[in-house]
Amino acid sequence: MIKILVSACLMGHAVRYDGKAKPLLHPALERWQREGRLVTICPEMSAGMKVPRPPAEIAAGMNGEDVLSGTARVLEITGGDVTDGFIEAADNALNLALHSGCTFALLIDGSPSCGSGFIYDGAFTGVRHAGHGVTAARLAQAGIKVFSERDIDRLVEQVDVLS
Ligand code: SF4
Repeated sequence: MIKILVSACLMGHAVRYDGKAKPLLHPALERWQREGRLVTICPEMSAGMKVPRPPAEIAAGMNGEDVLSGTARVLEITGGDVTDGFIEAADNALNLALHSGCTFALLIDGSPSCGSGFIYDGAFTGVRHAGHGVTAARLAQAGIKVFSERDIDRLVEQVDVLS
């Protein structure tokens, strides 16, 4: 069966840094849930991060691949360096995906962990750039096809073709 790793906040879990969820209402999600295709994780919480927590961004306009290669850091708005926790979060997500047989991931965009289309530039001013968060990068490097919530219709097409 095709299985899909999904960001917990998209499933309505209040796990974001600000203590909120960002639920995605889409009939395919409800159907996939009934079919047992969804594997839900909040990578950051899996690495022990609390709710709420200070917002964090990948510093200096870099991306998740840079963090994984050791050339970029993830910093909180308060200045704390949370790079190691974000890498642990990405490893947890990849391990869960591999152990549960997920070949796709549906992740919320903009997050320094889950972002797959865009992330923020590290200045905490709302400026975006194209790129992966750390978890999205880890999953993509392992061959898992990552989609943002804005691309769910494209994901639906691919899952339907393979099912
Ligand atoms: Fe949502 Fe991912 Fe951030 Fe967890 S790490 S709150 S699942 S965007």
